[in-house]
Amino acid sequence: MARLLLFDIDGTLLDTGGAGGASLLDAVEDVLGVSRNTFPPLNLAGATDGGILRQIFSHAGRELDALTQEAYLASYLQHLHRRLHASDFPGVTLPGVLDLLPALAAAGGADLGLLTGNVRRGAELKLARFDLTHHFLEGAFGDDAVDRNLLGPFAMERMSRATGRCYVASEVIVIGDTPKDIACAHAIGARCLAVGTGQFATDQLQPHQPWQCLPDLADTARVCDLLLS
Ligand SMILES: [Mg+2]
Repeated sequence: MARLLLFDIDGTLLDTGGAGGASLLDAVEDVLGVSRNTFPPLNLAGATDGGILRQIFSHAGRELDALTQEAYLASYLQHLHRRLHASDFPGVTLPGVLDLLPALAAAGGADLGLLTGNVRRGAELKLARFDLTHHFLEGAFGDDAVDRNLLGPFAMERMSRATGRCYVASEVIVIGDTPKDIACAHAIGARCLAVGTGQFATDQLQPHQPWQCLPDLADTARVCDLLLS
């Protein structure tokens, strides 16, 4: 059976150590002229960048017009690149990720893609920082929809085009760290492997009824077995 594995990025593959959130606020100051200190905490977990932008512009009392949005994203990406490559960058890959991705490739039988709320360029910057880009063929991104539940079909269609294979929902597994990842898997009738490496512990993820829930991806053999069998 073909298998399509769609990975979330933040809290699942890697943790930017706050660099992502800080870059969003850098752009608030640069483009919207509003001090980060006046901003309430942003709800980032599982959100798409489009959804985060709506929060930000609403807090700033600004209309989300296309030009300002474009300027905002350009500034965000510039700051993100700078922060990801700063000498004191605190980011890490999450437990097991650096072993799991090559192990899945070596085992064969699964196609790896992305299902992330990051805009495509932001996703590329974060993955490239840890040399993870080559593991993923295609994906769905925050550019595609504000509502994460709408991202699944974009990922399946792009992956189909990249591999020449057609996937049905029963062959798709979403790997993510928030209730929103679980919901977006359910939205396409797919399974979700939830991991407690983001802001939610496994006992907070379980009530959202993921197919499987693990504290992290550290047990390579077990995770491969779950994802490939
Ligand atoms: Mg996440």
